[in-house]
Amino acid sequence: METVEAGHDDVIGWFEHVSENACKVQSETLRRILELNSGVEYLRKWLGTVDVEKMDDYTLETLFTSLVPIVSHADLDPYIQRIADGETSPLLTQEPITVLSLSSGTTEGRQKYVPFTRHSAQTTLQIFRLSAAYRSRFYPIREGGRILEFIYAGKEFKTLGGLTVGTATTHYYASEEFKTKQETTKSFTCSPQEVISGGDFGQCTYCHLLLGLHYSSQVEFVASAFSYTIVQAFSFFEEIWREICADIKEGNLSSRITLPKMRKAVLTLIRPNPSLASHIEEVCTELESNLGWLGLIPKLWPNAKFISSIMTGSMLPYLNKLRHYAGGLPLVSADYGSTESWIGVNVDPNLPPEDVSFAVIPTFSYFEFIPLYRRQNQSDICSDGDFVEEKPVPLSQVKLGQEYELVLTTFTGLYRYRLGDVVEVTGFHKGTPKLSFIYRRKLILTINIDKNTEKDLQRVVDKASQLLSQTTRAEVVDFTSHADVIARPGHYVIYWEIRGEAEDKALEECCREMDTAFVDYGYVVSRRMNSIGPLELRVVERGTFGKVAERCVGKCGGLNQFKTPRCTTNSVMLNILDDSTIKRFRSSAYN
Ligand code: AMP
Repeated sequence: METVEAGHDDVIGWFEHVSENACKVQSETLRRILELNSGVEYLRKWLGTVDVEKMDDYTLETLFTSLVPIVSHADLDPYIQRIADGETSPLLTQEPITVLSLSSGTTEGRQKYVPFTRHSAQTTLQIFRLSAAYRSRFYPIREGGRILEFIYAGKEFKTLGGLTVGTATTHYYASEEFKTKQETTKSFTCSPQEVISGGDFGQCTYCHLLLGLHYSSQVEFVASAFSYTIVQAFSFFEEIWREICADIKEGNLSSRITLPKMRKAVLTLIRPNPSLASHIEEVCTELESNLGWLGLIPKLWPNAKFISSIMTGSMLPYLNKLRHYAGGLPLVSADYGSTESWIGVNVDPNLPPEDVSFAVIPTFSYFEFIPLYRRQNQSDICSDGDFVEEKPVPLSQVKLGQEYELVLTTFTGLYRYRLGDVVEVTGFHKGTPKLSFIYRRKLILTINIDKNTEKDLQRVVDKASQLLSQTTRAEVVDFTSHADVIARPGHYVIYWEIRGEAEDKALEECCREMDTAFVDYGYVVSRRMNSIGPLELRVVERGTFGKVAERCVGKCGGLNQFKTPRCTTNSVMLNILDDSTIKRFRSSAYN
């Protein structure tokens, strides 16, 4: 039988090989994608009836990149909608699409669907195996051990045409590949499926923690998709540890767990364990009274070797707190990917999250890179506000130190699709570039897996201000927002300055309207599970935004060029806003 170590060597050997030949592998990947999907409606539109198989790699790549346009989700949306409505002719892929994933972001204020195929789940398994293999070089773990994994599957639903829709992680947790991953990596999640797919953040987290403690001596590492969740889970633990202790002592389950399937599944796993309960009580009392919860993880999970989750990008604000709970345990930053495609693997798991970059996996998709230059000169080639862009280049031509926006051509029917992420090439792993994640373009509000742009915010505020003017004699004169990542759970705060009189009831309604008007699926699912708290509307006194402008202009130039930032983390601005807040409302949506 294959051992885990041999499996690790195989998968690393495979990756070293494809990295070494990354440029050639990219050409082959493009060829495979085009051969598999030759004749689909979208490609016929741009490539006509060319015979892909007869072309050499160079001609094929040149033809593809000169004839097929670079697009955003909005351009492919009509095709995806037709698939969602049940059309079965080959539109984007020859393989019939039966499942759609909800990617982050929106298109024209609607949720963004992208096709999901078996290939998507297989690449997830492959990258998980690969990163487990690299991790094991630095932090070997015991075979057959457990992972305290804070993972949450959302709900799935059907489109008009009968296709299943859910997040990519939801599909993955329900797939064969998820089971295979546990078996091949010989590490098993503490919680059963009924907990993972429970759909209520508080109840799932409670059970993850309870089972994590029940199996504490076997836990080899702690993980989640994004580190926000780990931080939320442990700050929740600070409040409810006594309840968990009582459950462990008696082999019982708190009445806060009301979901019958979850209750049943957890109760069949736990047994009364008074000695474990008194040990936890002793440790937690010390942590609470003397240590401010510093080092909570190694104190309660003494065999844990590391903590793994995405810690880069919008997760950086949570690093301090995570380090506090980790108390010296290594933080291993997880891989880089999106619903559209996995992108890169962390081949240096020993590096701190701030220094991590991701080696592009050249078999997963065909990658192109739009060079980006931070704006200086207005008259340049093509621009998109924040950056000046140049023509996209293939992987073989990327340069060290250059920033790029990623463009993907995937096995799932996305062709030259702008992902919106800005990355920097910080090195090479053999022949494949290592990318450090800079940020998602245009993203302003994010706490967890949610991603909202200025346009999304504007749309949301427009909707609510219409409601305000219809129901009162008041209007919104200016606004801004802030993602409060310190609160537990984190939530969006929107500041309004209004002219005229508005009753509290009307403002409450506006607050609720804004909360429901953010339709990015990451937001919706986090709100439903309460891993993001109710949106808060703060009404500031008249003249507040004038004060903000004066303060900013003092620092950054003429008043006629001043634009209110639509989202801020600036403490001076937040202080002015908070000092001027006269009313606060919390949304009652998703209650
Ligand atoms: P989604 O499509 O909802 O799965 O979100 C994918 C997006 O999350 C990517 O396009 C990135 O903006 C962000 N993301 C994913 N992985 C990482 C990572 N390792 N570091 C930073 N940001 C990431």
